[in-house]
Amino acid sequence: MELFEEELPIFPLSYAEIMQRLRRVDPIKYGATRNYLNGAVSYLSPYISRGVISTKLVLAEILGRGFKPAQIEKFIQELAWRDYWQLVWIAKGDAINQDLKHQQKPISNRQISNAIVDAKTGIIAIDTAIRNFYKTGYLHNHMRMYIAAIACNMSQSHWKVPAQWMYFHLLDADWASNALSWQWVAGANSNKKYVANQDNINKYCGTNQKKSFLDIPYEQFASLDIPEHLKETSPLNLQTVLPKPEALRIDKNLPSHIYNFYNVDPLWKKDTPANRILLLEPSHFKQYPVSQKSIDFILSISKVNIENIQIYVGEFETLVADYELLNVFYKEHPLNNHYSGIKEERDWMFEVKGYYPSFYSFWKKCKKQLRY
Ligand SMILES: Cc1cc2nc3c(=O)[nH]c(=O)nc-3n(C[C@H](O)[C@H](O)[C@H](O)COP(=O)(O)OP(=O)(O)OC[C@H]3O[C@@H](n4cnc5c(N)ncnc54)[C@H](O)[C@@H]3O)c2cc1C
Repeated sequence: MELFEEELPIFPLSYAEIMQRLRRVDPIKYGATRNYLNGAVSYLSPYISRGVISTKLVLAEILGRGFKPAQIEKFIQELAWRDYWQLVWIAKGDAINQDLKHQQKPISNRQISNAIVDAKTGIIAIDTAIRNFYKTGYLHNHMRMYIAAIACNMSQSHWKVPAQWMYFHLLDADWASNALSWQWVAGANSNKKYVANQDNINKYCGTNQKKSFLDIPYEQFASLDIPEHLKETSPLNLQTVLPKPEALRIDKNLPSHIYNFYNVDPLWKKDTPANRILLLEPSHFKQYPVSQKSIDFILSISKVNIENIQIYVGEFETLVADYELLNVFYKEHPLNNHYSGIKEERDWMFEVKGYYPSFYSFWKKCKKQLRY
């Protein structure tokens, strides 16, 4: 079931191509097929997570094509999950780095199973997906759930290290969606652990594997011992290699607009003359390491779409002090709380803000703002 190279998703960089991808999303087919590995998913997440486009813009484009919300509810709901997790991050801050609602149990290690990292779980669909993941920086949502279930609920690893492994390699790395989804699978942010058996994987991945360690009825999951080949675990040593710092050319008469790992929006204040600086803070990447592929992606996408953008590798405070920046603008994000200057709101799909303990209580309010 190895996917051929030409079938693997690729992620173009120019804004025009990104908009073309958005215009090609089929939100009706999406609703019927999104759980299948070859379903009509949008492949927009790297652009949404890097802040190139917002969920609001995606929704406006799709509704602009004349679809009625009721026809495309599944698609809107999935976009809303993204905003929901971001709002939880804003409300809870660093608390999302620990078990949010319940302590994950049982845990036998705080590492990651080597079989996952080495794509040797023995589940053909999953091992193929992990190998492809290293090539593309993308994983289908169902695969993310399967992998998280194997890591947390079969190998009994605490969710955090495996989540950091996945975040490291994802082009769409978004710590809110990532950490909170991992916790959802592990039962730390939900009332029930997520598990999937071989039949489920075969159905959604187009395989017909039998006799794997997951080829069991659901009742047996509760008493399943850690499979022998998942027992060997390792800590991770994830490090981001940032580009070499270079001197900036700053026009002191202009404001400075700060872009970062979560904001590479080419339309943001586009028509205002400004110093445009992509800030890559070593302290940020020490806490949230990402792969070379992920760094290359953000560097390329910002250079291709934002005229005259300059890269600053260093801390926010040093940037402002060294270049005596006065008029600093940036977009709101939970990781920017140490910035100073003028904070601007980002775009959200709905006017529903604050903390909702469950997605469905949040969604109920959001739905009222859609015209059915
Ligand atoms: C364990 C785990 C880890 C995850 N880590 C990340 C992550 O680091 N970054 C990330 O962006 N998403 C993450 N997700 C959510 C989801 O898997 C991806 O957003 C989605 O698969 C991206 O592919 P797509 O753009 O083709 O999505 P589509 O299915 O086409 O959905 C359209 C958009 O809706 C949003 N979306 C869809 N499903 C979800 C979801 N379950 N949760 C939140 N937003 C969603 C995304 O912005 C996505 O681009 C994770 C999910 C799980 C289970």
